[in-house]
Amino acid sequence: MDLFEYQARDVFAKHDVPVLAGEVIDTPEAAREVTERLGGRAVVKAQVKTGGRGKAGGVKLASDPAEAVEKARAILGMDIKGHTVQKVMLAETADIAEEYYVSFLLDRTNRTFLAMASVEGGVEIEEVAATKPEALAKIPVDAIEGVTDTKAREIAEAAKFPAELVDQVAEVLKKLWDVFVREDALLVEVNPLVKTGDGKVIALDGKVSLDANAEFRQPDHAALEDKAAADPLEAAAKAKDLNYVKLDGQVGIIGNGAGLVMSTLDVVAYAGEAHNNVKPANFLDIGGGASAEVMANGLEIILGDPAVKSVFVNVFGGITACDAVANGIVQALELLKSKGEDVTKPLVVRLDGNNAELGRKILTDADHPLVQQVDTMDGAADRAAELAAK
Ligand code: GDP
Ligand code: MN
Repeated sequence: MDLFEYQARDVFAKHDVPVLAGEVIDTPEAAREVTERLGGRAVVKAQVKTGGRGKAGGVKLASDPAEAVEKARAILGMDIKGHTVQKVMLAETADIAEEYYVSFLLDRTNRTFLAMASVEGGVEIEEVAATKPEALAKIPVDAIEGVTDTKAREIAEAAKFPAELVDQVAEVLKKLWDVFVREDALLVEVNPLVKTGDGKVIALDGKVSLDANAEFRQPDHAALEDKAAADPLEAAAKAKDLNYVKLDGQVGIIGNGAGLVMSTLDVVAYAGEAHNNVKPANFLDIGGGASAEVMANGLEIILGDPAVKSVFVNVFGGITACDAVANGIVQALELLKSKGEDVTKPLVVRLDGNNAELGRKILTDADHPLVQQVDTMDGAADRAAELAAK
């Protein structure tokens, strides 16, 4: 989960990273009072989860409250790389003498963490990284050892920070590493990290990406979620504890096991080429124990997607055998009917693996008018695509 800048700023403040005061607003008029609170001047910054706001005109200085209202009005509603600005942050202005860059990230290729730092930070950092790679220091950070005093100085020195700033920068790096570890982040980036006219080092813009796999031990992170941007079907699926991802197609997909579901998406996309280019409508892995309740929940979510025209249930029986899954499907259809959500779209079911024969018999005996069985994955994908194309 990526955070907005103002959220990153709050997280930084919580771990004592030096930041400037700021407040987030969503109406231009609110800028007046906030700017007064900030001392009469402010920088007005678009809050969108993309970089390059400065270059796009999403960061503007205001030298009095009236100007802040004007700048906020200009920025709110602006489109920055496909993101509409719904909120702006007003922050204390900084007297910037130098702009630097620092970050910590997970380096998957080398199976370690990585610190990156440069004294040539600011809006051109991508350019620096591409054309002057020697100006961007990259120092691996051992997960167990972390960022010690020695490590922090090594990073600051590798990036060629001026000698008189190394102590201050090292201190900030240690605190940013605290953010990285204690918040379970995958990325903590500061660009620019600035030196002010009076020689202070401050994090002026922050980008933080949190590891969703750590949600279970980060109860505070739920509040950082951007509810407004969440897909309503994905939100409903999450509430039901389902592994669901909304896609743009017409064939609803239910499978057991992430690998099987991934390959089902491929097979359906391929089959769809012959049927009006229909595509998979979602990813949904109902996991090992496909109980009637889980199956009903899954169907409910998928059928709640108006774009879905057919559903492909692709199950390979393992520990949970196909007869249990078949019973789950039958009961799920009854459950939905009793809730007044009777299934009206065709279901193509492919059962294979443990107790496949028995599972198929259960569905045949149930004889639901909208359920069709096809015994091969390719055949079932083709049928589901054909039905969706009708
Ligand atoms: P980004 O373009 O999305 O990365 O947004 P930033 O928050 O990094 O802002 C872009 C640029 O605006 C920075 O590199 C600074 O040069 C400038 N900027 C941001 N905040 C201030 C400020 O408080 N005072 C001044 N003078 N410039 C600022
Ligand atoms: Mn920036």
